[in-house]
Amino acid sequence: MSHMKSRRVIVVGGGIVGLAAAYKLLNNNPELSVTVLEKEDAVGQHQSGHNSGVLHAGLYYQPGSSKARLAVSGIREMTQFCQAEGVPHEICGKVVVAVTEDEVPRLQDLLARGTANGLRGLKWLSGAELREIEPHAAGVAAVQVPEEGIVDYSKVCLALVRRIRGLGGEVLTNSGVRRLEKNGAAWIAHTPRGDVAADVLLNCAGLQSDRVARMAGLELSMQIVPFRGVYYKLRAHRTHLVRNLIYPVPNPSFPFLGVHFTRMIGGGIEAGPNAVLALSREGYRFGQFSLRDLAQSLAFRGLWRFLMKYPGESWKEVRRSYSKEMFCRALGRLVPEIATADLEPGTSGVRAQAMYPNGELVQDFVFGEGPNQLHVLNAPSPGATASLSIADEIVRKLEQVMS
Ligand SMILES: Cc1cc2nc3c(=O)[nH]c(=O)nc-3n(C[C@H](O)[C@H](O)[C@H](O)COP(=O)(O)OP(=O)(O)OC[C@H]3O[C@@H](n4cnc5c(N)ncnc54)[C@H](O)[C@@H]3O)c2cc1C
Repeated sequence: MSHMKSRRVIVVGGGIVGLAAAYKLLNNNPELSVTVLEKEDAVGQHQSGHNSGVLHAGLYYQPGSSKARLAVSGIREMTQFCQAEGVPHEICGKVVVAVTEDEVPRLQDLLARGTANGLRGLKWLSGAELREIEPHAAGVAAVQVPEEGIVDYSKVCLALVRRIRGLGGEVLTNSGVRRLEKNGAAWIAHTPRGDVAADVLLNCAGLQSDRVARMAGLELSMQIVPFRGVYYKLRAHRTHLVRNLIYPVPNPSFPFLGVHFTRMIGGGIEAGPNAVLALSREGYRFGQFSLRDLAQSLAFRGLWRFLMKYPGESWKEVRRSYSKEMFCRALGRLVPEIATADLEPGTSGVRAQAMYPNGELVQDFVFGEGPNQLHVLNAPSPGATASLSIADEIVRKLEQVMS
């Protein structure tokens, strides 16, 4: 890290990835000057503050992928971080449930993946053993993942800000980067609060990361396609139906994990989310609409190819987003006692999912590089769990791109 000494780094985006990166950069080299520029009036207002709040240990991901590697190390580091910072969290374990016999081979594959990825304590459960852990769950078999848990990622973001400031770094809110300019070797970021100069640019702008990358002159073939996910909550008198985390066996083509039950660290049980094309990259209320965002999604040929490749799945998700009954049926596969009357509207989130022009979803974490610039172009789930390990990867990559 010696050649990074005394350099100025700007981090665009005060979500959990940008904050973790800023913290690790300063922690590894206290002489570095690091400024996080966040466009909202507080950190963690987008994906990092609108997610399921689950600590994922890396069960699902292709062995050898960055996701697998960084989730496994990330969950351990995130758990230690939360302990050190007093961030509310709980390692309560999760069950992934095969509801029918034909899902059993895919569940076996997941167990093999998790084992290959180095997860500890994975256990195959019969239907009867599953019900000892989750008495109201239905299933012919399940895998128990004891390392996983729940956490408040908004509080993780605030703890990261404290650490950054403690190490002399800056976190500026209301500082959206509107334009990036090169002045000789230096970057100039234009924000409503003034211009900020730096030697190195790190883009962690989540839902806006492709736009920020293009602002910096990077040529990209892939694009962020926003997928909105809506949650329901179990009414208070029915929360006994779920003890902790109950997940279905996911469809291997989709990184989204299917509707699941999540006990929230602040109390209550959430159910969901679904996944439909969002009409706005940052729209959390039903019907919220951005002409720019929608036009950009529709002009992207990858989206049309995706819809042609997966018409059944796409249509099912759209119908599920309009029909509480269908949503409830999907949940009822896992916990049959659930009725529509048990569900009340919950929160929502928008996923920044990068897509290739051929319509395939980008599965792994992806970075884009250029001289004195690094861009995090795809950091979907388990990006929050893995953020501290993604940050280590960022520090390594930044050393390589710095001239
Ligand atoms: C519905 C849902 C459920 C999920 N569940 C989980 C889960 O249970 N566990 C898990 O580990 N992960 C989960 N994830 C994924 C996780 O939330 C993300 O991987 C993680 O939050 C990504 O963090 P980020 O910092 O990259 O993005 P973000 O949190 O979106 O942060 C990007 C930041 O950049 C800022 N920004 C954008 N443009 C600019 C600009 N021009 N100038 C300045 N600032 C800018 C934004 O305001 C934002 O604050 C979930 C995601 C969603 C959407």
